[in-house]
Amino acid sequence: MSETTAEFGATLTIDLGALVDNWRLLSRRAPRAECGAVVKADGYGCGIEPVVAALYRAGCHSFFVAHISEARRVRRIAPDAIIYVLNGLLPGTADALLSIDARPVLGSREEIDEWDKRGRQRPCAIHIDTGMNRLGLNLAEARDLQAGGGLDMLALGLVMSHFTSAEVDGDPATRRQVFSFAEIADLFPDVSKSLLNSSGHFLDIAPAYDLTRPGYALYGGNPIPHQPNPMNPVVSVKARIIQTRDVPDGTAVGYNGRWHARGRRRLATIHLGYADGYPRNGSGIDMLPGGQALVGDVLCPFVGTVSMDLIILDVTEASPTLAARGGEVTLIGGELDVDRVAQAAKTVGYEMLTNLGRRYNRVYVGG
Ligand SMILES: *Cc1c(COP(=O)(O)O)cnc(C)c1O
Repeated sequence: MSETTAEFGATLTIDLGALVDNWRLLSRRAPRAECGAVVKADGYGCGIEPVVAALYRAGCHSFFVAHISEARRVRRIAPDAIIYVLNGLLPGTADALLSIDARPVLGSREEIDEWDKRGRQRPCAIHIDTGMNRLGLNLAEARDLQAGGGLDMLALGLVMSHFTSAEVDGDPATRRQVFSFAEIADLFPDVSKSLLNSSGHFLDIAPAYDLTRPGYALYGGNPIPHQPNPMNPVVSVKARIIQTRDVPDGTAVGYNGRWHARGRRRLATIHLGYADGYPRNGSGIDMLPGGQALVGDVLCPFVGTVSMDLIILDVTEASPTLAARGGEVTLIGGELDVDRVAQAAKTVGYEMLTNLGRRYNRVYVGG
């Protein structure tokens, strides 16, 4: 490490203690089930190794990833954990999965056949599609295969399905998926079952079955939008001010001059941009407000387009001592939680987290 802290313009802090607390909170919501953890996409941007290490120490034993490369990283940290690869079995990858004892979540007859040939009875999971139409056997295929003995040769460790809209209060699609999965569950009385993602833990109509699969809520995302967030914040992002300036009424600011000062304004340019994962859709355009940052406890709007490495703030209302060269502003943290920040950038918290760039001073606390 040649870079000193002073050289970093932005800091990403990940609270592993809060992550573990969130995992425990979700476990308590499904007391009869085992609570797993979804750590795909580099642990939702939080870093797969520290995330897995903290959860594994806390007693988490089942991890879900999307890619084999991610499974490999989990295996190095958690030698005896069960690892499921949600994206299934890519052609020719059975040996790679076997070599790290990872279990593919099989979603088609082709995948089942290939695992049967190469997998030599090693444990796997199957994915039943109950409405997403993305991955998995449909209900008829699952029934036919099970009735015809087409799954008998598999060492089935888990039967799972995935909600399309568990976070939408009262969505009838969720009810239909719960019923479909109950029917499938009856076909596999002796196999472990898994249905709940983060938001699923907060539904009263869905049984928890044997194993749950939270992702987003572990990392502090709100699993019940429009209600107060029950999770502890895990991620915070702070960036430093590079310079400030005063501009007169009518001044055009940023690329293509898409924001104009109304009256005399004080601006601050901060050391963070879309290459650090802050979406360009958070730009502050005339008549179309974008993201905000906290300077002290004052919310300051973004003005002009978000640049690759820089964002400009209107800090007129903030304390001039804080809104000064070298001063630190908060992009995520405090009242600016991940969901609110994502909304201001016209996206979802999932995308915000998984896009967090690699240029931060990454600091891990707690855990
Ligand atoms: C990503 C994913 C999850 C986790 O969902 P969250 O909403 O982040 O809790 C669970 N199951 C599957 C199949 C997934 O792809």
